[in-house]
Amino acid sequence: MILVSACLAGIKCCYNGENALSSHIESLVRKKSAIPVCPEQIGGLSTPREPAEIVGGDGRDVLEGRARVLTRSGEDVTGQYIRGAEEVLKIAKMVGAKKVILKRNSPACGFNEIYHEGRLVNGNGVCSALLIKHEIEVEASGFQNSDVTNFLKAHASRGY
Ligand code: SF4
Repeated sequence: MILVSACLAGIKCCYNGENALSSHIESLVRKKSAIPVCPEQIGGLSTPREPAEIVGGDGRDVLEGRARVLTRSGEDVTGQYIRGAEEVLKIAKMVGAKKVILKRNSPACGFNEIYHEGRLVNGNGVCSALLIKHEIEVEASGFQNSDVTNFLKAHASRGY
């Protein structure tokens, strides 16, 4: 069993109330090979919600108290991001998941690259960082070609 970002499975949990459907990921869930999770929602954030970014580092820095997650208007949502990551870790342990496939570039799910002030920088999202710390393999998922245009339109103002 693996965990996947819920938005990739077609769940409308993105900050703007949309999804980021990947038919490959959806099919894994339909075959009961994967469980969809959304750390931002599980952490207590509503949908739709104001977009947020990590300020002062990446997800590991957030977990170690050196960086924060702020919404575009400056609200500090660090606590919700940490709580969401911890709950996803709990689910992973509960089902024995050794691997997760998470959506690229998100401040929660991003792996290797996250957005900062409209551009990609090296680093992991908060949830990815916590899972990696607990030796769960993280893989980043993009989109199939047919999904790219819709994704770029929907996320033009946000960046992820
Ligand atoms: S990228 Fe992660 S946190 Fe963002 S909507 Fe998708 S599952 Fe939720």
